[in-house]
Amino acid sequence: MPCQKSDELQRFVEEAKRYTKDGKVADYIPELGKANPGDLSIAINYPDGRCISAGDIDKKITLQSISKVISLALVLMERGYRYVFERVGMEPTGDPFNSIAKLETMPAKPLNPMINAGALVVTHMIKGDTVEDRFNRLLGFIRELADDSSIGYCENVARSEFESADLNRALCYFLKQHNIITEDVEPLLDLYTKQCAVEMNCLGLARIGMIFAMDGVDPLNGKRIMPDDVARICKTFMVTCGMYNASGEFAIKIGIPAKSGVSGGIMGAVPGKFGIGIFGPALDEKGNSVAGLKLLELLSKRYRLSMF
Ligand code: GLU
Repeated sequence: MPCQKSDELQRFVEEAKRYTKDGKVADYIPELGKANPGDLSIAINYPDGRCISAGDIDKKITLQSISKVISLALVLMERGYRYVFERVGMEPTGDPFNSIAKLETMPAKPLNPMINAGALVVTHMIKGDTVEDRFNRLLGFIRELADDSSIGYCENVARSEFESADLNRALCYFLKQHNIITEDVEPLLDLYTKQCAVEMNCLGLARIGMIFAMDGVDPLNGKRIMPDDVARICKTFMVTCGMYNASGEFAIKIGIPAKSGVSGGIMGAVPGKFGIGIFGPALDEKGNSVAGLKLLELLSKRYRLSMF
């Protein structure tokens, strides 16, 4: 079913777009610095297959941190709850996503799977003999969630991050020293940077958000893509740590499970209702899409989306 343009969404996009000038695109991954800060688009995917959108929804977005929710779902299915949470915690940190600070003050286990340290441990848990095997396993799962077998990754973004990921390298070496990571750092970073560079448009994001919103079932064919408990755990992390160290404010102002990435993407899952995909690469100082947040605030108020 083609995605319908929505006049109401378009009005929200126009209003929220004014805020793009208050943000900056991420450039610590050099390739991401090429994005146009004025872009803003949104798609909403409903369980009956309907889709509405506004803005240039054909633009591709690399998942970046949004991929952390999906890799977590995969390893929970492959390894089980106990194995995963013996190696990564469940608590928000209040620190920036790439912070190393708490690793030294706590037992070395990262506090949650949404910060980089925790996400690297999660990626480490993806099963397979080679990086290629493991990546294909993750990509297959992403394609199934998005119902789009054409999804791939952006080699330029992956390479750009791999070549500049010294902070993530440092996190990996720290975790390796403490036996939380037991493989070589370079292949793990290769896998992680490819995971973060998987790209799709807002429609794909909205569709994946819808599957989480529907507790892991594809409502169109009744197929269960993940156990409902896995979807529930992922949505809980989206609420407690999905929007970096702005997750508390986001829960108060908007109140839906959501995950953002430094590419300017946001994936939202409104429980039982629909999935949202947003692309707005101008970020605020915490790394969230500045206009994307505004757009979600307008939507949440208009449709009373807060779950609290
Ligand atoms: N690939 C990025 C990193 O590890 C993801 C960060 C993000 O989107 O928050 O730095």
